[in-house]
Amino acid sequence: MPGSTIGMVGGGQLGRMFAIAAMQMGYDVVVFCGSDDEPAAQVATRAVVGDLLDHDVVSQFARQCQVITLEFENIPAETIRWCGEFAPTYPSHQVLATAQDRLVEKTTFRDAGLAVTPFAAVDSAAAVGEFAQQHGWPVIVKTARSGYDGKGQHRLAGPEDAAAVPWDSADAWIAEQCIDFDREASVVVARSSVGQVRCFPPFENDHRNHILDVSVCPSNLSASQRELATTIATRAAKVLELVGVLCVEFFVVGEDTLLINEVAPRPHNSGHLTIEACHTSQFEQHVRAVCGLPLGSPELRVGGAAMANLLGDLWGDQGERPDWDQAVAVPTVSLHLYGKSDAKVGRKMGHLTATGDSVQDAKAAVMQARQRLEG
Ligand code: ADP
Ligand code: MG
Repeated sequence: MPGSTIGMVGGGQLGRMFAIAAMQMGYDVVVFCGSDDEPAAQVATRAVVGDLLDHDVVSQFARQCQVITLEFENIPAETIRWCGEFAPTYPSHQVLATAQDRLVEKTTFRDAGLAVTPFAAVDSAAAVGEFAQQHGWPVIVKTARSGYDGKGQHRLAGPEDAAAVPWDSADAWIAEQCIDFDREASVVVARSSVGQVRCFPPFENDHRNHILDVSVCPSNLSASQRELATTIATRAAKVLELVGVLCVEFFVVGEDTLLINEVAPRPHNSGHLTIEACHTSQFEQHVRAVCGLPLGSPELRVGGAAMANLLGDLWGDQGERPDWDQAVAVPTVSLHLYGKSDAKVGRKMGHLTATGDSVQDAKAAVMQARQRLEG
């Protein structure tokens, strides 16, 4: 119940927006992170600073919490097991073990009868060649573990590109068919500790250099595609026995094919627009899910919404800040900055959201606001 203390493992922007939602509802939030100026530590009730593999500090953190959750999946399963000795910890270490490894994740869903991008484990140029004989070029090769925002990914146009993959730099690699999709979409589904399930309407996503760039809602999916996306996301959450929120990313091919690209057992960048656009944001839904409160309505309360990411690329060479007043001069636009001091190329520093009567209005506003920052 509000008044209790929630533990958040991870100090990034997702933890920050979670903490803001939880504290609005009257919870205390203790963040476990690597330094006390991380985005979530800046807004939480308190922070415990330490190493994820330091049992003593993790225990000192977990002891303070009535329930514990997390904001990224690449946390050692051991850390989450330790947390579980003190308080219920959602999602479970089993969910993390699955979501941390692209091979385990895709195998889990394929075995459950859910369609995933065709894939295989590979360890060499020769193995990729064999995969391509079956699935054709180009092939996308990714590290099986620890990838995010396109890191660890290589697009191989033909056999000659396979030599450039740094095979020795990772323990395991996955090859995926390069999907010539019509669009990308995602569904954030919440499943509470008492088994209630709710899906946000699908978001439609555009990526730039394998990094999310713009998300909009409602998507351009047909009614039957929306229903299929929601059904698959609900099944994925049940297959994982997830408690919390899960984002399922899809490749949409033609009218009838939705392939699972990947899942993330936490709030997702494509769901940031829910803060302004939905009755309940993905962060509040995450709070409700892990605390066993009734889930809120995920429905849109506006005609349309659009979100554009703000990467470190927008900052000047000497770290000069963009002219934020230019962006918020577009009156339907909200600015979110994550409190990161170091702007690096490709680093997510913040985002803009616009809402409007239609998705076209919202997208036009958010793109206009971001262009002003680029100019
Ligand atoms: P990350 O963990 O970095 O988000 P993803 O697997 O989601 O990794 O890849 C990021 C983006 O790269 C995808 O959203 C998509 O745009 C592109 N991509 C990744 N894998 C494929 C694929 N097999 N076929 C086509 N595009 C892909
Ligand atoms: Mg992704």
